[in-house]
Formats: sequence, structure tokens, C-alpha cells
Amino acid sequence: MSSVIEQSIETYGIDNWGADYFGVNRKGNLIVQAPENENFTADVKEIVDDLRKRGVDTPVLLRFPQLIVGQIRKLQTAFKKSIREFAYEGGHLCVFPMKVNQNRAVIEEYLREGSKYNFGLEAGSKAELYAALGLDQARDSLLVLNGFKDREFVQLAFAGAAAGKNVVIVIEKLSELDHTLALTKSALEDDANAALPMIGVRVKLYSKGSGKWEKSGGEAAKFGLTTTEVLEVVRRLQEAGQTDMLRLLHFHIGSQLTDIKRIKNAMKEAARTYAKIRKMKIPIEYLDVGGGMAVDYDGSRTSFESSANYNAREFANDVIYVIKTVCDDENVPHPTIIQECGRYMSAYHAILVTNVQDEIETVVESITPMELSKDDPPVVHELYDLRQSINAKNYREYYHDSLELREDLFSMFNLGLIDLEAKGKGEVLFWDICEKADQFAQLKKYVSEEFDDLRRLMCAKYLANFSVFRSMPDNWALEQLFPIIPIHKLNKKPAEYATLCDITCDSDGIVDKFVDLHDVKSVLELHKLVRGEPYYLAMMLVGAYQEVMGNNHNLFGVPHEAHVHIGEDGYIINKVIYGATLGDAVSAVRFDTSSLHDTFRRNVLQRIKDGKLSNADGSKVIEFYEDQVESYTYLTPNGSPRQ
Ligand SMILES: *Cc1c(COP(=O)(O)O)cnc(C)c1O
Repeated sequence: MSSVIEQSIETYGIDNWGADYFGVNRKGNLIVQAPENENFTADVKEIVDDLRKRGVDTPVLLRFPQLIVGQIRKLQTAFKKSIREFAYEGGHLCVFPMKVNQNRAVIEEYLREGSKYNFGLEAGSKAELYAALGLDQARDSLLVLNGFKDREFVQLAFAGAAAGKNVVIVIEKLSELDHTLALTKSALEDDANAALPMIGVRVKLYSKGSGKWEKSGGEAAKFGLTTTEVLEVVRRLQEAGQTDMLRLLHFHIGSQLTDIKRIKNAMKEAARTYAKIRKMKIPIEYLDVGGGMAVDYDGSRTSFESSANYNAREFANDVIYVIKTVCDDENVPHPTIIQECGRYMSAYHAILVTNVQDEIETVVESITPMELSKDDPPVVHELYDLRQSINAKNYREYYHDSLELREDLFSMFNLGLIDLEAKGKGEVLFWDICEKADQFAQLKKYVSEEFDDLRRLMCAKYLANFSVFRSMPDNWALEQLFPIIPIHKLNKKPAEYATLCDITCDSDGIVDKFVDLHDVKSVLELHKLVRGEPYYLAMMLVGAYQEVMGNNHNLFGVPHEAHVHIGEDGYIINKVIYGATLGDAVSAVRFDTSSLHDTFRRNVLQRIKDGKLSNADGSKVIEFYEDQVESYTYLTPNGSPRQ
């Protein structure tokens, strides 16, 4: 492997955050490796070229379902080993929280693999439950229901139990228990042997997680019952003679838990609570430890927000060890541990690939060679002199002088003392001086902060053909970092520092924080754009939350999607799902395309009638407009509607 490729792997941190799923091949292209065999690889650039030939342009979301399988196995193996190592007597099961990614392809792949280990689903709303009830699950897997529930939600849960699912209604509010008990009573009146859902309680722990979702835990959390409320649930169940229904204790202290110490503390508190309830002769058998297993997006293995200071093995060891210790101390049976692990399962499997459409200039460059005339105002002449004589010794002073002169330039322009041409010349000269000052500054051993800022200001801005709000909303809303990497040219040294702008008309639609092993980078090393040559970037690890949290800002719709299988002979594109068209996008905001077409046509016909437009041109423009209903919401290289 060439040293440039090795350098690229380091620059972009692929081995740090890639979890052994990603690499670079000899051509300098990004590859995805099948978890079951690292010799099975898919060249992402080849996939994108292939898709383009089929009329599927970027942006395109590539789904690699095998990576979901890889994550399931990693977690399942970790717990299996810990259970053996600590002679733990309970089991371990997962339920996939559907809210993380409800896409059919994701859920079906999860169930296909997860069913081998009796992994089930978690639903937090009626719609999620409705979907879950129509899917086959392993017979011994669970269907755990969190979230606030009305009577109808609880009724759906009973329907699930009647259909043979192991449904657990997790009580978040006491009213949900009332609905459950009322429906239980009538179900048993109809049929004394009716299959009933199980009941769980979500407890509010004093322990908090760490990271951005810290407030999901602790006393002020939105969810969970207080100790008194839990006791009230037990009392009402005793009163109804239904204590047998209470089988699960649940807590969830937040997503992307970065610090293993906090997790251990929560486990201790939850295990104690389990033991105490168990001792009240309640046959709780499941301890649901929620989700929150973090993804190490920057690969730093720290408790930084976008990272985690533990791996699956350490997580499993700590959970098993703490729960076992507490249960042994309390002399109660070891519960089966339920994990609602979402982000960890699905983050890796999806990659958004898009093209850099263009560059946005900050640095003003002369469009034609500049000639100074004696009519130009003194301020322009002074800037010109600075540019000519700036050197390694005076660059700092000259840079400061140029800042002042630029202020003068703008004030004089605002007072009407100089014309547009002089202003234009002055700006070009100013940026020339900055560029030179930057070059001199970067040669120094110690680069002062002001020149760091200057570099950031002068860095290239690449216009990437995507919407941050649609495809990486957590980057915008929460400053969550995602690795971004070119999918080709990794055998060439990147010669540019750049930030990214998306194509929405929103100044928030930018990416200017990038993963780094030791810090957060404010610019990303990228390759210089070559006219006429596409340059593709991949936004990595976007398979959790991003797709479903993404929104319609500016009516950029869902991107195209391709499902890719990696085998011995490389990749197979199993499925292509076209992204939203202009028609889809306007329908989402309740416009009716045929009435839009009618109005457009009426206006054109009027112009023809008025003699302002020929019949032929009128038909052409109508046809063109109506064809757009089928075109992609993103920028397309050839601008043609899809086939
Ligand atoms: C969101 C959520 C999860 C999933 O958390 P991850 O961090 O994605 O694993 C699990 N359980 C509950 C109750 C949730 O609300």
C-alpha cells in the first residue's frame, strides 16, 4: 500500500472510526468490507459510477445491510462471552427501537439476523406498533412498547398479544395502567385463557448519563415513574389480582452515552430497584437497560460527545458484572437483560454519497489582470504597494495595515468618494495580501491565532449537492460530528483546506466541524476541484436517526437509495429506490400537481392568445414545465428528468 494511501487513512481517521468496515483500495477508492470476510469488498466509487449509468445521480444513500448484521453479531457475541465469563444465570435479548430508523429495509434486515438470537422490536408510537404487528418476529422475542399511550395504543398492544406476540406495555403514566387493567378485565371476561400483554414499568433513576442526551436521565427526566408511582402500580396490580403481569423493569438514561462510569452507576441503581421489587413477590424477569450504547464517530475512544470511552465487550462486562453483584448481594435471581440498542446497530450501515458541485469564493480574485491607473484613489495605490513589498519579515505589520486600508476603502465607498471599479481593485489587492501573509505565517514554527483565523476565513468553501437538514440533521441541530471523506483520489495528497456548504438557501446549511482524533477540525483536507471532473464525498455513519429526523427544508426530498450486497466477487446492487421528485416534494406540502399544471398552462395559453408567444414555443414551455414533475429535487449534472 502506498504511503499516500496510508496517509489518507490517517488524515480521515478511517481506522479510528471505521470499526473495520471501511478501507481504501489500491486505486485510492473508499471500500466497504463485509463483516463476515474482510476480503469481500465493495468499491464505493465503482458503485456510484454504476448507479450514474443507470440514471441514479448523487446524492444517493448507499445501504449496506450486512453492516447491521455485523453490529448485531458483535453485540450478541460480547454479551454471550460476558455471561459465560461471569457465570451469569439470566439471558440477554435485544429489541430494536424503531424510532432510530423505521425504514423497511433496516427493520427487515434486523429481524432476519436478530431472530436467530430472539431479538425483537421496540415501538414508541401507535404507527410504529402498527408496523411491528404486521411483521414476523421470532417466537420468543419481545415487542416492548415505550412512549405515552392512550387507550387505542393499549388496545393495539392487546391485539398484538392476541396475535401471539410477547408484548410488554411499559407504563410511563399511571393512566396507561388503568387502560391496561380495564382491557385485561374485559379480555378475561370474554375468554378466561385470553393471551395478555405483559406489563413493564419505566423508572426514573437518580443517575444520569453523560453527553448530549444527559437530560434523558436524572430526577428531572421527561419519562419514568417515581418510586412512589412504582409502588402505586404494584398496589393497583395487587388490588386487581394481576401482579403476575408485571414482568419488566425499564430505564433509559439517554442516547450516545459517552462515559462508562455513568452507565455503571445507573446499572447499580436499576439493579437495586429490580431486586427490591422482586422481593415484593413480583415475578419480574426482565431488566431492560434501555439504549444508549454509543458510536465512536470520531474514533477518539474518549468521553467526548461524538465518541465513547468503551467498546461492546467492556459495556457487556460492566452491565453483567454490576447486575450480578447486586442480585447476588440481594439474593434474587439474575434477570434476563434487555437492551434497546438502536444507534449502535444501525449507524454504520448507511453512507450518503454526494458530489461537490462547485466552489464558493471568499477570496476575491482578479478576473482580468489588474492595471493601476493614476486616477485610482490613494487607498488603492497604498494597498498595491503593500502587496508588492510584503515579505517574511514585515508580513504581520503589512497585514494589519491592509486591514485598516480595507476599512478606509469601504468607508470611502459608502461616502460616495470612490467608484465601484476602485472598490473592486481594492478588494482584490486586499485578498492578495492576505494570501501572501498566510503563506509567510504558515512557515513559522508557531502560527499565531490571528493567522489561524485568517486561514479559516480563506479556506475553500465546497458546495456539496445535498441538504444538511435532510441528510445530516444532527450536525445542524446538535453539532454532532460525522466522518466525511472523499470516495476516490485517496491515493493523492489533498491540497486544499475546505468547509462544506449545502445547496439549501440557509446560512445554517454548512458543515464546518470535522472529526479529528485529538480535537475538532474546523477545515477538512480535500482535493482541488478539477473542472469537468466529478468529486465525490461520503458522509459516513448516517444510518441512525438522520434519515428519519431529516426534513423538507427548501423542499429537498429524500435522496435516491441503493441497497448493496458485498460478496466474493465484489458488490451487487440489490435494489434502487428513487428519491423524491419535484412532484413528490410539492405534494408533501399539500399542493396538487395537476392544478399547478392547469394554472401554468392557462397562463401560457393567455400569452399565446395575446400574441406574445408562438404556439410552438408555448407548447414547448408547457411540456418542459410538466416534465419537471418527475425530476430530482437535487442538482443534476445533465439536468434531465429521470428515465
Ligand atoms: C431512543 C431510545 C432508545 C434508543 O437509544 P440508542 O441510543 O439509539 O440506542 C432506546 N430506548 C428508548 C426508550 C428510547 O427512547
